[in-house]
Amino acid sequence: MCGVFGAYSETDYVTEEVYLALQALQHRGQESAGIAWIDDRGRVNSHKGMGLVHEALNQDTLSKMTATSAIGHVRYSTAGGSMLQNAQPICANYAQGPVAIAHNGNLTNAGGLRLELEHRGAIFQSTSDTEAILHLVAHQPDKSPFDALACALERAQGAFSLVVLLEEGLVAARDPWGFRPLALGRKGENYYVSSESCAFSLLGATLVRAVEPGEILLINENGLTSRYLRNKPPKRKLCSFEFVYFARPDSVIGGRSVYKARQEMGRRLARSCGKLGGSAGCADFVAYMPDSGTTAGIGYAKESGLPFESAVVRNRYVGRTFIQPTQRVRELGVRVKLSPNGEIFSGKSAILVDDSLVRGTTAGLVVSMIRECNARELHMRISSPPVKFPCYYGIDTPSRGELIAAKLSVEEIAASVGVDSLAYLDKDDMISAIGIPGDELCTACFDGTYLEDQEGSIYCEGPEG
Ligand code: AMP
Ligand code: SF4
Repeated sequence: MCGVFGAYSETDYVTEEVYLALQALQHRGQESAGIAWIDDRGRVNSHKGMGLVHEALNQDTLSKMTATSAIGHVRYSTAGGSMLQNAQPICANYAQGPVAIAHNGNLTNAGGLRLELEHRGAIFQSTSDTEAILHLVAHQPDKSPFDALACALERAQGAFSLVVLLEEGLVAARDPWGFRPLALGRKGENYYVSSESCAFSLLGATLVRAVEPGEILLINENGLTSRYLRNKPPKRKLCSFEFVYFARPDSVIGGRSVYKARQEMGRRLARSCGKLGGSAGCADFVAYMPDSGTTAGIGYAKESGLPFESAVVRNRYVGRTFIQPTQRVRELGVRVKLSPNGEIFSGKSAILVDDSLVRGTTAGLVVSMIRECNARELHMRISSPPVKFPCYYGIDTPSRGELIAAKLSVEEIAASVGVDSLAYLDKDDMISAIGIPGDELCTACFDGTYLEDQEGSIYCEGPEG
């Protein structure tokens, strides 16, 4: 998963705005960050680094850049390893001019494209699938960069939400299924494109609309020019997991507030479970896993009428534990990050809400710590259906064998995690809570309905890592 941002102005220098917007998109990727812009000589330049935005980039330096259009990226690798060569935007000054690309998503045919391009003489600098798009553009020197990009995107399969900087202007493009979000914003005469609308608020810009699935939008001195990819799949596939976990709650995606959707997931979960507290019949309070279960936890408490307790404390100064390379490091990471407040749990029956169980590591460790606090009963509620299948469209999920719900029944998971009971949100309830018709949402990690099953045409090579 990654975050992308682009800014276009006729009059203002925008690199510092892109830097600040990347901070608002930091939750979408913490491995590396980068910004690219076109300089006075018409050449593309970039600053990239490993780590968080403030570690990777220098705000002072960027505030002095005199570029009126720029793009940025925060990375969380799903395809290609975690290294500086794979940091984006990916940039080149080729025969037809400068080009810089920032990509969120995974191309499902990246391996095939790469082989084909290497046979045609392309030398890849990175292992990221985004570079294939750059080479496809450069292999069409007879076309303008914008036309070459549009043709290149006709060949890309899978998920892409892109911002691209060309001499002709700033381009925003989204795959025809619309897996990953991409939004258009505006402040005065300046235009912005962002993975999530939360970055617009920070800049005082407002959300205009979503970049449509299959749309290629060119922003330049002529305003907005829109064209569409030829491939028009019968169904859209906006990622439902963006609403469950990934997106920031203050974003609006596909016209739906992520916060409201998440709270409704909690409400519906409560409705299906009642005030359930196991043998006692009614729990003493609702707690949540911060921050991933907070909004659904609020919804659960409101619907059930039970008190809401901030009973698990999150250490704000440690990063994410999900993608740590070994299980032991992941486990230690969870212990450093989350700690239950023993005063609240002791002797009580609690409902603990989180957004999802993937490997079950986080829940297992937090539950064992809560047990050490002498909780009387603990009932876990998950505000999404069981994650049983990996994602090939840009979200980092482990292989099927590591997914706890792919191996165990709900009762077995409850026993493995150590809770008295476990319940998940039903898939139809999740879809209703999101408020977008089910046939416009991707739910593949919950039900295994990948594109190739539905449309017979997409060969899925899967993520490299
Ligand atoms: P696990 O510990 O493997 O069961 O992971 C579940 C926790 O990780 C939940 O608290 C989720 O909020 C969070 N999570 C779920 N999916 C992802 C993801 N793709 N990347 C990072 N964190 C995730
Ligand atoms: Fe989102 Fe899951 Fe579909 Fe991946 S498989 S795009 S995480 S809903």
